[in-house]
Amino acid sequence: MEKVRVRYAPSPTGHLHIGNARTALFNYLFAKHYHGDFILRIEDTDVARNVEGGEESQLKYLNWLGIIPDESPQHPNPKYAPYRQMERLDIYQKYTNWLLEKGYAYKCFCTPEELEVEHQRQESEGMAPRYNRKCLYLTPEEVAEKEKQGLPYTIRIKVPDNEVYEFDDMIRGHVSFESKDIGDWVLVKANGIPTYNYAVVIDDHTMDITHVFRGEEHLSNTPKQIMLYKMFGWEVPKFGHMTLIVNENHKKLSKRDANVLQFMSQYEELGYLPQAMFNFMALLGWSPEGEQEIFDKDSLIEAFSETRLSKSPSMFDKAKLAWVNNRYIKELPLEEFVKLCMPHLEKAYDLSSKSKEWIEKLIATYQEQVSYGAEIVPLVELFFNNKFEIEAEADEFLHSDPNIKNTLEVFANLLVNLDDFTKDNIFACIKETQKTANAKGKMLYMPIRIATTGIMHGPDLAVSLELLGKDVVLERLKNTINTL
Ligand code: GLU
Repeated sequence: MEKVRVRYAPSPTGHLHIGNARTALFNYLFAKHYHGDFILRIEDTDVARNVEGGEESQLKYLNWLGIIPDESPQHPNPKYAPYRQMERLDIYQKYTNWLLEKGYAYKCFCTPEELEVEHQRQESEGMAPRYNRKCLYLTPEEVAEKEKQGLPYTIRIKVPDNEVYEFDDMIRGHVSFESKDIGDWVLVKANGIPTYNYAVVIDDHTMDITHVFRGEEHLSNTPKQIMLYKMFGWEVPKFGHMTLIVNENHKKLSKRDANVLQFMSQYEELGYLPQAMFNFMALLGWSPEGEQEIFDKDSLIEAFSETRLSKSPSMFDKAKLAWVNNRYIKELPLEEFVKLCMPHLEKAYDLSSKSKEWIEKLIATYQEQVSYGAEIVPLVELFFNNKFEIEAEADEFLHSDPNIKNTLEVFANLLVNLDDFTKDNIFACIKETQKTANAKGKMLYMPIRIATTGIMHGPDLAVSLELLGKDVVLERLKNTINTL
């Protein structure tokens, strides 16, 4: 097999979003599985849509995910550079001249207004709108005259008659299109900049791209591209068109979908882990052979096979993402988990009076539970909020048994005499209360938990009390007992 070379070719029109990140990821996994190269090319020919910093942001989040290009504008291979389309205009020009000379392409002087009128006419007659080839029939003298007048023109391809464009899509199988369904499309716009369908062919060929994985929205572009490969007499790369990502309502995930976070930057900000995102996205449209779902990068590269890319849409399952991220969070060394949570805690609470040990202990308490960094903020509120409130359901529980008051009093009296307020000593007091107040299981733990934290579920009780500190715990116990 020749060396695999694939590319991810974003337009720098915004931040890296889920759809693009998945395209990049599958190209990357495929390349690395076959020991090939993964190339980043910037498709910036739609100049009006380019945004400042778009390329940097793409790169930053590819890096964050660990999808590192072998070649890119920042890391060019001189044999293939440059890697930004707007720096390759002279390359396209050379091929345009050749197409014009050979009669495969022609200049079109029709104005947008004329094209629009024709478009309307065709539609009103129930025809599929397409260019009427008016300029194909201009004589060389007419063309020269119009050029002399300085009239703007586009360059159109002369679509061959009666051709069939067939290919074996790596995901969808056999696909075929007929040239009769395709109008003469524009290769080069009036501003001299090539269109996507044109530039992509020149680039993929001159960069020795062997395989192309991209979104299914590009399927209908593929015959246009194959048409050019044939005119140039070039080998066509293998194509694989990935199915849509849909939301939980089975609707195509759109950038305006308020229910699903779209951008890698948002996941980073919330404290998702890049290795978990990498793992999760690999399962969006690809599945391994067995039941395993947690894979590190190397095992994904090893397991990846283009034959197991899905033919049906893949659902973006938020609960699954939370589960995957939680799995990775649990495995983190504590200091990494602390780093993940700290910015969120610092933003939400005043930590100035808390020791480093206390903060670390607090964070550690939630490592098993949280599914992303920022999720710790509401969970730890009870350790910061002086306004102590008991939830309604919990309050009902406190009033459900007459022995609860006694249990809390016994426990409070034991704590008063406790000098060293550590979880082990607190635990010993809970055990002592069990005997003295004759309260077991739920009737022991639940009243204490509710009276001190206000809620019915939480992390280890003795640890929670240690973190709250003796004064707060006694104060809350006293107040709760007074309500019983
Ligand atoms: N610039 C195109 C896009 O962002 C690339 C399409 C392709 O991979 O051919 O959709």
